[in-house]
Amino acid sequence: MEIVILAVVIAVVVIGALGGLVIGSRKKKQLPPQAPSGTPTITAPSAEPQVGDEAETPRDEPRRTIEEVELPLVEPSASAPVVEEPVVEAPAAPEIETPEPTAGRLVRLRARLSRSQNALGKGLLTLLSREHLDEDTWEEIEDTLLTADVGVAPTQELVERLRERVRVLGTRTPDELRTLLREELIALLGTGEGTDFDRVVKTESGLETPGIVMVVGVNGTGKTTTTGKLARVLVADGKSVVLGAADTFRAAAADQLQTWGERVGARTVRGPEGGDPASIAFDAVKEGIADGADVVLIDTAGRLHTKTGLMDELGKVKRVVEKHAPLDEVLLVLDATTGQNGLVQARVFAEVVDITGIVLTKLDGTAKGGIVVAVQRELGVPVKLVGLGEGADDLAPFEPEAFVDALIGE
Ligand code: GDP
Repeated sequence: MEIVILAVVIAVVVIGALGGLVIGSRKKKQLPPQAPSGTPTITAPSAEPQVGDEAETPRDEPRRTIEEVELPLVEPSASAPVVEEPVVEAPAAPEIETPEPTAGRLVRLRARLSRSQNALGKGLLTLLSREHLDEDTWEEIEDTLLTADVGVAPTQELVERLRERVRVLGTRTPDELRTLLREELIALLGTGEGTDFDRVVKTESGLETPGIVMVVGVNGTGKTTTTGKLARVLVADGKSVVLGAADTFRAAAADQLQTWGERVGARTVRGPEGGDPASIAFDAVKEGIADGADVVLIDTAGRLHTKTGLMDELGKVKRVVEKHAPLDEVLLVLDATTGQNGLVQARVFAEVVDITGIVLTKLDGTAKGGIVVAVQRELGVPVKLVGLGEGADDLAPFEPEAFVDALIGE
C-alpha cells in the first residue's frame, strides 16, 4: 500500500514537471524575438547629438513648441552663400547685325586679291621689263595669261595690243609699263567696245512689287552663301529683304539661308526638304508683296543632273515667280577655283535661263583670276559681284580698276 502511494506521488510529480516545461516553452514562443544577449538594443533616442539631428536645445532651457520658435530674418550677406535659382533661358532672339557698307569693299578686300592674284600681275610686269622683248618673251607672256584662265582669244588680243603699244613707246620705264598694262587689263575686263558693262545688281523693279532676284548655280559653288551675303549687302543699303529657300535639294540649305537672314532681320520662306522649289519661290514672292518688301532673293537648287531636268526646274521657278512680278536679275554663281569647268557650267545655265549677272566666288583662293575675263566673254554678261572669303561681308561689287590694281599693285 505504501509502495502504491509512493508510486502515485512520483507519477504526479513527474507529470507536473513535464507540464510546466511544455507551458514554459509555449510562453517563450509568444515573446518578441530578443537580441542575442550582450548586444544593447537602442530603443530611446540617444542623449548624444547624432549627425542629422537638429541643433539641440540647451538642456537647462525649457523646450518650446514650434509656434514659439522665432524665425530669424535672413538678410542676404556677402559672406553667406547665395543659392541661385536655376534660370531657364528662353531661346535668345537672334541679334541683328549691322553689315558693313558696300561702297569700296573691293578696295578694302584688296589684300585678299593681291595674295591670290599677284603672281599674274607681277609675272607680266617682270616679263615686260626685259630689255629685249623677243618672240620667246611674248610667248611667255601669253602662257602667263593662259595659266591664269584668261582664255585664248582675250589673251591673243591683249598680247597684240601690248606689242603694238610697246613698239610705239620705244624705251620703257617701269612706270610707263605699269600704266600700259593697267590700261590694257582694264580694257580687257570691260566690254571691249569702249563702254563698260552695267554692273549694278538690279533690285528695283520700278513697279509696286518688290525687285526679284533669282540666284542660280551648281551646288557647292557658294550659291546659298552668296544669297545670304547679298541679303546683307541689300540690308546695309537700307532695303528690306525676303528670302526664298527654293534649294530644297541640298539638305540644310534652307537652314543655312534662314540663319543668314536672321542675322540681318530678313524673313525666310521655306518648305519641306525635297519639296517643290517653284511653289516656295511663288510663296516667297507672295510674302514679299504682302510685306511690302523691297527685294525678294530666291536661292535655287543647282543640280546638273541633266540639262532638261535643270531647264524644267529653273524654267518652272521663273514661270511661277513671273505670275506675280517680273524677274529683275538672274545671278549665276561660279566658283573661280574650278577654272574651265566653271565655263562649262556657265554655258549650260545660260542655255537654260537668261543670266543677267555673274558672281565669281572664292577669288581669294585661286591665282586664276583671269576667269573674270573668260566668263564675261563667254556669256556676254558682266561679273557683278566677287566673293573674297567666307566672312559675312566678303562679297564685293566688282570694279575692274580696283581688281587690276590688286593684280599689279599701284
Ligand atoms: P551652295 O551649295 O552652292 O549653296 O554652296 P554654299 O553656299 O554652301 O558654299 C559652299 C562653301 O563655299 C562654303 O563652305 C562657303 O563658306 C564657301 N564659300 C562661298 N563663297 C566663298 C568665297 O568667296 N570664298 C571662300 N574662300 N569660300 C567661299
